[in-house]
Amino acid sequence: MLTTTHYCPLCKPDDERVLWQDAHLRVIRVDDEDYPGYLRVIWTHHVGEMSDLSPRERQHMMEMVMASEEALRECIRPDKINLASFGNMVPHLHWHVIARFRSDRHFPQPVWGTPQRESRLPPGARQSDEALADALLKAAGRIAGR
Ligand SMILES: [Zn+2]
Repeated sequence: MLTTTHYCPLCKPDDERVLWQDAHLRVIRVDDEDYPGYLRVIWTHHVGEMSDLSPRERQHMMEMVMASEEALRECIRPDKINLASFGNMVPHLHWHVIARFRSDRHFPQPVWGTPQRESRLPPGARQSDEALADALLKAAGRIAGR
């Protein structure tokens, strides 16, 4: 059934931990006990696909995905980074940037897969929002300067 009301949790965010925000996008930290290095890069306007963006906007989006990846690698030193963009449940453009450890709850499955074990993360896996935001700012500056 078609409805005239439109509800999107990414258009009307509630209680987000925003680490970075500019005119086009924001980077938030996902609150997940098993995944303390889980960032989400969210385009501000409600668009569904990367190809809805202009070439310049796509580049900015991917630069911030890369900055998020670099910040996680620097801060948390994971075994692997996972990048994903689905939007099947929430069709508002966003990328998942997730620090993974061989000892995490789902490795080597995706974090949405079948759990493999109880999570046992190394001590350095849990960093403050401030430390991650600082690393993100530095990584974004490096990338913009290249
Ligand atoms: Zn939306």
